[in-house]
Amino acid sequence: MLSGLGALTAAAILTGCDSQPDTTKLAETKVDAAAKLKATKAAKVKKAAQVRANELGQIPVLMFHRIVPKPQTTDDRSPQQFKADLERLVREDYVPITAAEMVAGKIDIPAGKHPVVLTFDDSSPSQLTLNQMGEPQKDTAVAIMKEVADAHPGWKPKGTFYVTRDMFGKTVREEQAQMLLWLKDNGHEIGNHTSDHLNLRGRSHKEVEDQIGKIAAQINALSYTKPTTIALPYGNQPNKKDWAMRGKLYNHQGAFLAGYTPAPAPFSKSYDAAGIPRIKAMDKKGDCAQFCSHAWLDWLKKNPDMRYTSDGDPRTVAYPKYKAPYLRKSFTTWSLPY
Ligand SMILES: [Zn+2]
Repeated sequence: MLSGLGALTAAAILTGCDSQPDTTKLAETKVDAAAKLKATKAAKVKKAAQVRANELGQIPVLMFHRIVPKPQTTDDRSPQQFKADLERLVREDYVPITAAEMVAGKIDIPAGKHPVVLTFDDSSPSQLTLNQMGEPQKDTAVAIMKEVADAHPGWKPKGTFYVTRDMFGKTVREEQAQMLLWLKDNGHEIGNHTSDHLNLRGRSHKEVEDQIGKIAAQINALSYTKPTTIALPYGNQPNKKDWAMRGKLYNHQGAFLAGYTPAPAPFSKSYDAAGIPRIKAMDKKGDCAQFCSHAWLDWLKKNPDMRYTSDGDPRTVAYPKYKAPYLRKSFTTWSLPY
């Protein structure tokens, strides 16, 4: 036990000789800091209001398949159509983020811009083929994204590629690795699309885990990447939706479906990480008159209060005050109502 005298001596030593605590100064510093914080917040609120930020608004997650000169199904786009799709996004102030960034809530785009997620399913060679120089071949999806980005500084060529064992048509291990590493090195995301592209609905837990785990292990062995998002084949969830999210060989932060609406922001109460909707990229024709990309982009343009608009600060969730009931509780500390 420390004696009374011992405690006193210790206190005297700790205080030292020249350190009369200046309480007035300390208090002033505290007031200063609080005032500064308040001023910073006020500036952030002002900026958010100026650009009419709406970080509880919806995000279009576009779904592409093959990019081929002669589209054969309504899933295909020609290189010209694909380029026009991207140029429209540029014109309408959309900036690409990856699916992984979206589900992590890391939406780091300039103030006043809208996020868009560009997803590519089935790992077709029309999305990614490299020439002998290791450069993307003309008219592939990655080449067209780069062309558009080069012509529009600030617009990043960022896509999410949902890979099956087809691996962009490559069968040799070294070539498969080259494809995946190219994507990784060039700012794209590699996602899981199951090994054999089977419909997971109605399958056993083991079959679901095998299908997702097998390609996860292959992607990791080839490119040292653990996908954090999955696109479900045909948009179908397994009998328990959580089976697609977590398994022995995978741990996803988001599972994407195949249709037919823009997605809720990850900060919104209506967001469900295990079932995030996507929109097929297609003109307003036939089945696509209402529920594909051209129609939805028209709708988002006409309804700016429904669309996600960034305040330019990835660490806040800014929104008009009346939207407060839609904020997910877990993001309360990030919130910046105006
Ligand atoms: Zn698919």
